[in-house]
Amino acid sequence: MVDLQSQYKHIKDKIDNSVINVIEDATFINGPSVKSFQKNLEDYLDIKHVIPCANGTDALQIAMMGLNLKPGDEVITADFTFASTVEVIALLNLTPVLVDVDLETFNIDCNKIKKAITSKTKAIVPVHLFGQPAKMEEIMEIANQNNLFVIEDNAQAIGSEYQFSSGNKIKAGTIGDIGTTSFFPSKNLGCYGDGGALFTNNDDLAHTIRGIVNHGMYKRYHHDVVGVNSRLDSIQASILDIKLKLLDNYNSSRNKSARLYSENLKGNQNIILPSFKAEEKFHVFHQYTIRIINNKRDDLANYLSESNIPFGIYYPIPLHRQKAYIDSRYNEDDFLNTNLLTQQVISLPMHSELELDQIRFICEKINTFLK
Ligand SMILES: *Cc1c(COP(=O)(O)O)cnc(C)c1O
Repeated sequence: MVDLQSQYKHIKDKIDNSVINVIEDATFINGPSVKSFQKNLEDYLDIKHVIPCANGTDALQIAMMGLNLKPGDEVITADFTFASTVEVIALLNLTPVLVDVDLETFNIDCNKIKKAITSKTKAIVPVHLFGQPAKMEEIMEIANQNNLFVIEDNAQAIGSEYQFSSGNKIKAGTIGDIGTTSFFPSKNLGCYGDGGALFTNNDDLAHTIRGIVNHGMYKRYHHDVVGVNSRLDSIQASILDIKLKLLDNYNSSRNKSARLYSENLKGNQNIILPSFKAEEKFHVFHQYTIRIINNKRDDLANYLSESNIPFGIYYPIPLHRQKAYIDSRYNEDDFLNTNLLTQQVISLPMHSELELDQIRFICEKINTFLK
């Protein structure tokens, strides 16, 4: 699904040197590379504050702690995504309110958000799934009208842009109160271990969050709030600083690969292709995910396994039906799209080093099987 070895080969000298530098200087924790990466990411995203942390799940948790959400507060998020989002909501004793997604973008459905709002709702957490931003203009309108916070889970869409109806283009993750991301190795901007970050334009919130990631300390050994220990280590930051400069290139080659997949698969009666706009940066294709109709998804998956072609099923079970998150409040009729997508989706190999021949080969196999 990803080819991190080939990617490494192109940048080996730089990476090796930077890692050795950190080791020789023994600046493992909060070293200069962390500050440098933080600054460079702030410039790249055009945001005032980046606060690095240990992983994308921590980033979500710290965001909710930073907004001072309290047990019982309701947080609305998408039913069709990775479990991190709902996991941290539950861990903080907040009340998760899962809502359905739209079939076109796989992202949270704004009408469903509106219906889910109650007097206890405090925040909305849209997830920019598979690399395409959720409908942020509508989401911000709903949030403003109802006095809600917005945390953007941008783990899958770093580098993508969202276009407002005014024509204004803004980087995903920098529109809501807080954006969060993950630098897990297979993400579009991945390190060689775990890593994450939060973004915000709000100075007070940034200050609060910087304390929370560091044991609630604003002054050494003075613990003002309950915090956590969540750091991006200097070796990972030095690697990320090198890869950040290549992120736009990486995303552009993902986008080209996606277009080639779609070109080769269009016309197949059993496949619904992902929808995306013409401009490259509007979708950074963390995943290239198609829908297989006529109940043929699982047969195709078996066939691809036998043919040694990697694939992923993201995600096979809606969150509202995961054992940990089952709740009698949920009604199956409210999750028709997620329920359908979990039966239909399949993601094909997608990474920055994918070659045209590989894509053509994979599509040929799929088209032969799904005649
Ligand atoms: C990867 C991912 C996360 C979690 O990131 P980690 O760094 O693995 O904790 C959260 N949300 C989404 C949508 C993700 O894809």
